[in-house]
Amino acid sequence: MNLHEYQGKELLKSFGVKIQEGIVAHTAEEAVAAAIQMKELYNSGWVVVKAQVHAGGRGKGGGVKLAKSPEQAGEITQAMIGMQLVTPQTSAEGKLVRKVLVAQDVFYPGANEPKEFYISILTDRGRGGNVIVYSPDGGMDIEKVAEETPERVHTEFIDPLLGLRPFQAQKVAFAFGLSGQAFKEMVDFVQRLYAAFLGSDAAMFEINPCLKTSDDKIIAVDAKVTLDDNALYRHKDLEAMRDTDEEDPSDVEAQALDLNYVKLDGNVGCMVNGAGLAMATMDLIQLSGGEPANFLDVGGTADAQRVENAMRFILKDKNVKAILINIFGGIVRCDRVAQGVVDAYKKIGDIPVPVIVRLQGTNADIAKKIIDESGLKVMGAVEFQEAADLVSKVLAS
Ligand code: GDP
Ligand code: MN
Repeated sequence: MNLHEYQGKELLKSFGVKIQEGIVAHTAEEAVAAAIQMKELYNSGWVVVKAQVHAGGRGKGGGVKLAKSPEQAGEITQAMIGMQLVTPQTSAEGKLVRKVLVAQDVFYPGANEPKEFYISILTDRGRGGNVIVYSPDGGMDIEKVAEETPERVHTEFIDPLLGLRPFQAQKVAFAFGLSGQAFKEMVDFVQRLYAAFLGSDAAMFEINPCLKTSDDKIIAVDAKVTLDDNALYRHKDLEAMRDTDEEDPSDVEAQALDLNYVKLDGNVGCMVNGAGLAMATMDLIQLSGGEPANFLDVGGTADAQRVENAMRFILKDKNVKAILINIFGGIVRCDRVAQGVVDAYKKIGDIPVPVIVRLQGTNADIAKKIIDESGLKVMGAVEFQEAADLVSKVLAS
């Protein structure tokens, strides 16, 4: 699950990470009020208006704008809300802007130049632990830095048993060329950031830019946060931050139905219990000359209701030319699933594509009989190869 910038910053702040402060606004009037309040709270004469959408690269797409007065903040907000923001990270249509963050301007002049750094934290599956990725060349061109001067992007592996050790946080501060107060602040920043990452069960943090202000403070100016969906159950406060407006509607619906669904571009819909069998089934479809239209794991309890939900879901995809249901009955009995398929079929009514059902395991033979005798346009199979042949046959006809 992804968070908006303002939500990510809230999370960071709760772990004591310093952030660029801001107030969310949904209208021009709210933005004017927010800008006035930023002045009162943080003596921030100028503010930046930042579009809140789940996409990066907003600066490049006109989604981050400096306002020199509350009135100007209102005008910018007026233009930004309701626009389709196109950035290098969105589709060509862009993303609808529903709210903005009116943030303090942190690039104010002072004794030193402000400087932008890059810090992210993510899990390196290969090495079995988290890594901190950092670069002294943060800001809007980090992709270019990674491509043209990869030696300026560093990785620090964190041993899961030892945790982040102080020297590792110092290494980051050294690489940024910091000294004195800024060095100390950066070490503290990295340590708190890592604590926030662990404490929120995050999958990814990206702070770009992490800024050294002209008076040597270290703050997170941007926060891109992805949380681990499987750990959300123990973070109800974070789970409540979900913004379904930003997510793909079919993903949202699948989640509500507790289906593990990923849409793909092929022509054979599939419904399977268990992720491993689902992957194998997708291979099978490919080998039979089809292309999987989706990944769908209905989970361990493939009862009639779930089969029906999944079937309706698959049928929404107009590219689907056939449906392959592949269920292994271990604990779940195949005859029950078969009855579920027949019931779902009758309930949905007219299913315009052939359905192939392969049931294997407990009571598989009874299940095949139920399918074969149902009088419906459903083809039963017991062996994997049989199912594959039926898919080929259906696609060829
Ligand atoms: P992104 O483009 O979606 O990653 O949005 P960011 O929040 O990272 O902002 C993009 C850029 O806007 C930053 O790299 C800064 O250069 C600039 N920016 C952000 N906050 C401020 C600010 O307070 N003052 C000024 N002058 N520029 C800012
Ligand atoms: Mn950014």
